[in-house]
Amino acid sequence: MDFLAGKTPKDLEQWLLSVGENEDYAVPLLTGFYRKKIRDIMEVKELPLALRHKMKAAFTDGYYEPSHVEVSVDGSRKYLFSAGGKGFIESVYLPEKARHTLCVSTQAGCRMGCAFCCTGQMGFRGNLSEREILNQILSVPESNQLNRIVFMGMGEPFDNCEALFRVLSILTSSWGLAFGNEKITVSTVGILPCILRFLNETKCHLALSVHSPFPEERKKWIPAENKYPLKETILAISREKVNRHRRITAEYVMMAGINDSREHLEGLIHLFHGTVFRINLIPFNSFEGSKIHPSEASAMQYFMKKLNAAGISATIRRSRGTDISAACGQLGNSVMLVRKPGLQ
Ligand code: SAH
Ligand code: SF4
Repeated sequence: MDFLAGKTPKDLEQWLLSVGENEDYAVPLLTGFYRKKIRDIMEVKELPLALRHKMKAAFTDGYYEPSHVEVSVDGSRKYLFSAGGKGFIESVYLPEKARHTLCVSTQAGCRMGCAFCCTGQMGFRGNLSEREILNQILSVPESNQLNRIVFMGMGEPFDNCEALFRVLSILTSSWGLAFGNEKITVSTVGILPCILRFLNETKCHLALSVHSPFPEERKKWIPAENKYPLKETILAISREKVNRHRRITAEYVMMAGINDSREHLEGLIHLFHGTVFRINLIPFNSFEGSKIHPSEASAMQYFMKKLNAAGISATIRRSRGTDISAACGQLGNSVMLVRKPGLQ
């Protein structure tokens, strides 16, 4: 049996031709499956009955429920999904007034090894398939309410490029989930070739993890700086014609006594002044075993005020779900827990 989740019209056209059917059925079939959320193929009434029977024998939907949920006092929820031999992955639902956001994982663990990140410390357990990425969006109980998707869960999305681009196409196409491009943000540590492809092939928002304006220091926190220096990445992005509807954000996780000095502020202003970037200041989320603390709220306010005064649009991201370790970069804690014998 094959899975429908993760399939594009091209995949199905090939299959339809291979069983002697008309390839034109691919689009109505996927529209029924993704957009109308019909999970049982027999219910896609636009298709001839004989074809529905053939499909039923060859495909299942491929979705599966989360195995665990934790609810925060602030209403956010962390879901744990099994990813087969790759262990467990996490997704976080973040409701805020009219916004219903899902923070999605793209890998089990991560091979980027950022020194401040809980997922980075887990190591790499494998790429998620298109199906495993989409399943998070379609199998959380709040699936029908979601109006924002952020690829800021476990893993580096651009280290799983092919699956990511297929998922983005399924999410935004009219035969897919018909999700607005402006409702989707992909966060990356800065893998330049994929960033350029992303800017050319999609209309979604981009977030770039910065965390230090100084190359030598950034290398210590984000080893990917060695291969993809931030400065070159910013220049390359600035050379692209960025549509004004597309948001390009620099994420800056603020760590007390580490990257919240006056020099860091000046470095940031120097780096981003006159560019397309806006800056999102994020309080560091502590997790068990981490010796890093978040910057004081006053330091974050100071950064925001000075950046704005320098003509760089800056905002502070509110920390959510910290009581259930559901904030950015904390994912991985419960994954490690369920791996302990006796707890599974
Ligand atoms: N791999 C991608 C996306 C997943 S991480 C990336 O690094 O951009 C999403 C965001 O969470 C990144 O900006 C990352 O730097 C940040 N992050 C990691 N650990 C964190 C922590 N402990 N507290 C706050 N943010 C963290
Ligand atoms: Fe991976 Fe992002 Fe964590 Fe770095 S910050 S280890 S790229 S998930």
